[in-house]
Amino acid sequence: MDVRPLPTKQLEVDIGDAEAKFYAENGYLAVERVTTDEELACCPRCASWMKPRRPWPHWKTARTIYYAGFGVALCAGPVVLADAFVLIPSLMLYLSAVGPLNSFVRQKATCTRCGSHMS
Ligand SMILES: [Zn+2]
Repeated sequence: MDVRPLPTKQLEVDIGDAEAKFYAENGYLAVERVTTDEELACCPRCASWMKPRRPWPHWKTARTIYYAGFGVALCAGPVVLADAFVLIPSLMLYLSAVGPLNSFVRQKATCTRCGSHMS
């Protein structure tokens, strides 16, 4: 498969007066492209370039905040252990979030057509 090198410059779309007038008259405007090459990836299964579905980029930060909250809960251990009806079940519920959170951190970009993982 022939893979073209990706440029590092940012996509700049300049719309002139003629295009603005066309949009005002017709209600739509066709542009050549709306993404940069950096946003595109090649799907190994579809063998075509496309904009992949990327996971939320802040899951690692959310997990770090989660662990910080767990540290606070550990420091408040005597208070948590004193209340068996509310705080202990709440802490167990809080601990059950680590599995889904770790799976969100491990998500990779996927193809929007076939769902294949893209590197
Ligand atoms: Zn694909």
